[in-house]
Amino acid sequence: MTTTVGEVVGAMLARYPADTAEDWDRVGLVVGDPAAAVRRVLLAVDCVPETVDEAVAAGAEMMVVHHPLLLRGVHSVATTTYKGAAVHRLIRSGIALLVAHTNADVASPGVSDALAARLGLLDVRPLRPDGPVRVGRLSEPRPFAELARDVAGRLPATAVGVRAAGDPTRTVETMAVAGGAGDTFLAEVTAAGVDAFLTADLRHHPASEHLAGGGPALLDAAHWATERPWLDALALELRADLSVDTIASDVVTDVWTVHAPSQPADPPPATKERP
Ligand SMILES: [Zn+2]
Repeated sequence: MTTTVGEVVGAMLARYPADTAEDWDRVGLVVGDPAAAVRRVLLAVDCVPETVDEAVAAGAEMMVVHHPLLLRGVHSVATTTYKGAAVHRLIRSGIALLVAHTNADVASPGVSDALAARLGLLDVRPLRPDGPVRVGRLSEPRPFAELARDVAGRLPATAVGVRAAGDPTRTVETMAVAGGAGDTFLAEVTAAGVDAFLTADLRHHPASEHLAGGGPALLDAAHWATERPWLDALALELRADLSVDTIASDVVTDVWTVHAPSQPADPPPATKERP
């Protein structure tokens, strides 16, 4: 039996209802004809030229992505614009595009559940109902610096890896996770009393004030790496719901492509011996 774009949309909305997305967000079908047939779906964090290339090469008839391609007002989809070129390429290639963004963040299970599972957290639960933050406990307590290395090893590999802020020797037993940019959740993870918080896109001032106030130690991972684990969960969900092939994209679409660690400082010049 042939699956249609409309059926994929229906299956996605059943798991990730559109009305649970934030008001500013734009989710749902962006490109495509609901009556068109779909055999293969490419799942990606971002709709960018590299993932569109991957969908074309794979013979996919649909892409399901996390980040909206068109979020703010658009007055042109001419091929001379970056996003217009993507829209044209999708249409010419017969590929529909569906976005599940903050509706996938707040769903249970959703983006941060997949992240928590990737880290091997136990007893995972939403920090608050309908929120995107999940809390859980480590299989065994460990020092924060060791946890940071473990998290970097478990997340999908990126150039930037994981940065950590806080006392490296602090013992961590419980942690909160939020896929994507999570600095708006610093107050609520502090109130939850967890030992560490993993998210992405943290900034100097909010992070330093948070730590000075006694909040959980912070793990700042590549944005893409915190959301990529969800694609594996989504692939299983779509194959359970529909007769489609799925490909979870491993093209790293994180914006940061180089991490250059600081070099050790040069030793101070030797002082001249007085005669
Ligand atoms: Zn994101």
